[in-house]
Amino acid sequence: MAFILPTQIGTPQGELLFRKSEEITDLNEGIKIINSLRETLDFYGGVGLAAPQIGISKKVFIVNLQPAKDDSDLPDVGFKAYINPEILNVSTETNVYAEGCLSVFYATLYGSVIRPDCLKIKYLDIKGKQHIDEIYHPFHARVILHENDHLNGKIFLQLIKTEDFSQLHWNEDLDIRKK
Ligand SMILES: [Zn+2]
Repeated sequence: MAFILPTQIGTPQGELLFRKSEEITDLNEGIKIINSLRETLDFYGGVGLAAPQIGISKKVFIVNLQPAKDDSDLPDVGFKAYINPEILNVSTETNVYAEGCLSVFYATLYGSVIRPDCLKIKYLDIKGKQHIDEIYHPFHARVILHENDHLNGKIFLQLIKTEDFSQLHWNEDLDIRKK
């Protein structure tokens, strides 16, 4: 499968972004979705992508995190898939950071979202093996929570208080349709 322009809010297909995804019961199906997610993320860029964003209402997302030159603090997670993830626990400590989304106005809209610093997640890997990971890096935790929200039919804008909407900002240069 080739890369797919991520599903957008405000379009008929985008309704999937507000629906709860279903568990993956067939690992091969999960792997096919992961391959499509990876191709799509590689093409458009970004740190994570969830199945509903490519029009598939199934519980799987991927992250792609590598330490950048300007943030060597970022853990070298690389490309990683999470099948049937479940967030077991989150920290009471939180942080605020700007988020955007490939499915929200083609990644041009950004806003500050409060998220827990750390979390514990249960998931299956691509071999169907169950893992429980503890994530201590706030940005890594943020990406996981953002992607996991997609599986619960939630987008980051729903975590921003209405009174903070005036602080959202646009960056038309980031429009993924220009890629
Ligand atoms: Zn997103």
